[in-house]
Amino acid sequence: MAKDPPYQVLVRDLPIHRKFEVPPERVGEWLKGLPMRDALGAPEGDPQAGHGVADLDLYADGAHAFAAGTFRGELTVACSRCVNPVTLKIDEMLRVTFMPRHELPDDDEPESAGGRPDRPDPDPDNAEGAEVSEEDLDVFPFDGERVDLEPLLREQFVLAVPFAPLCAETCKGLCPQCGIDRNTTSCTCEPPIDPRLAALKGLKIPS
Ligand SMILES: [Zn+2]
Ligand SMILES: [Zn+2]
Repeated sequence: MAKDPPYQVLVRDLPIHRKFEVPPERVGEWLKGLPMRDALGAPEGDPQAGHGVADLDLYADGAHAFAAGTFRGELTVACSRCVNPVTLKIDEMLRVTFMPRHELPDDDEPESAGGRPDRPDPDPDNAEGAEVSEEDLDVFPFDGERVDLEPLLREQFVLAVPFAPLCAETCKGLCPQCGIDRNTTSCTCEPPIDPRLAALKGLKIPS
């Protein structure tokens, strides 16, 4: 049974105003493999993974298509210190250009989530290491027939995750010896001796 992918819009239907909802199962699927997501040990189809909604105006102009609007949502990842769940809010203004692959900068191709036919060879005219301007960052590939919003929506969740998410600035983390959550319990573990100091103790100072 062929069903239209939920995040694609045919160019012949443009201009259009539409809302695109991202359910928790999708968020879980998109963030699979992300260490701060996997650390939660959440089940497949985790209903707490997060959700989002894009409210977009889509229009086309010859070889390009454009999307403008908002994206709001949230997602749950693990605190990088105590591994408890942290909910991150997303509230973004979107302004995106979809352009043919050969016009895209080489190193700015968003990963597709599979099922896409082979990519054409990168444009040899695009010099490697060319500077990518601010606007180029909001560019996605376009085949001229349908606007595929999935890479854009996926990116909203991926970019929302900071390098080291924290449940609170003051999170005390886990005890490195016994592993208890120091936010809720205390232990009597002694801090280990710094191996650098231990080495110094055995050092003989020449007289
Ligand atoms: Zn924490
Ligand atoms: Zn301890």
